[in-house]
Amino acid sequence: MKASIKNQIIEALMDQKEIFGDELFENIEVKRKTAVVTDKKNTLTEEPGLFPEEKEEWEKANTLEQLEGLINQCTACKLHQGRNKFVFGSGNPNADVMVVGEGPGAEEDKQGLPFVGRAGKLLTDILKAINFERDDVYIGNIVKCRPPDNRTPLPDEMETCLPYLKKQIEIIKPKVILCLGLTAAKGLLNKRDSLTSMRGKVFEFEDTKVMVTYHPAALLRNPNWKRPCWEDLQKFKKLYNELTD
Ligand code: URA
Repeated sequence: MKASIKNQIIEALMDQKEIFGDELFENIEVKRKTAVVTDKKNTLTEEPGLFPEEKEEWEKANTLEQLEGLINQCTACKLHQGRNKFVFGSGNPNADVMVVGEGPGAEEDKQGLPFVGRAGKLLTDILKAINFERDDVYIGNIVKCRPPDNRTPLPDEMETCLPYLKKQIEIIKPKVILCLGLTAAKGLLNKRDSLTSMRGKVFEFEDTKVMVTYHPAALLRNPNWKRPCWEDLQKFKKLYNELTD
């Protein structure tokens, strides 16, 4: 098959995945470190292990600089093997708004910074549309090393990397988080819903409000989604205003 046709098919499938999620693709089991037990009312709850786990050094970090220094040589999943640079995240360490993407692409891997390629330029414009400068917000990703050929990060890679993002959120304490695309939403919120069903709703991640919209790379492939994305952003800005006024 010609490479250009193959690429078109891959992009079309990625668009379908962006909208419909795993309903069309695979069943992903998200492993959890806690035990699932049933209580007296027979509802499923999660219980921590018998003994508290000893904290690792990076879990004790108080600042983003400390955290980055402690994790940027990470080899916990196989993505590190193809890494050129670890993409920790960038922006205002005291931001009220945090933006979460999927994972570094080629340009991000080269520069060690998130969203610096084509999708990054569009993200800058998206933020401008709701009166934010890039430096006002903090930008991070679900995984911090580039997946080979820009494939979607695998569930085990997301699960391994998520604690780092959680720690960043704990340090930054944003008031609102905007997830870009289905992978970011699923990774952070541990949901299996489609992007369509998540757009426009307000979720919570450990007491922080979260909203979901399209990934800028998806908007580059399908400009028809720019309008619905703009509507999502209006709702996001309204939520931000309510939480910060
Ligand atoms: N896409 C992402 O999800 N993150 C980046 O940092 C760049 C592109």
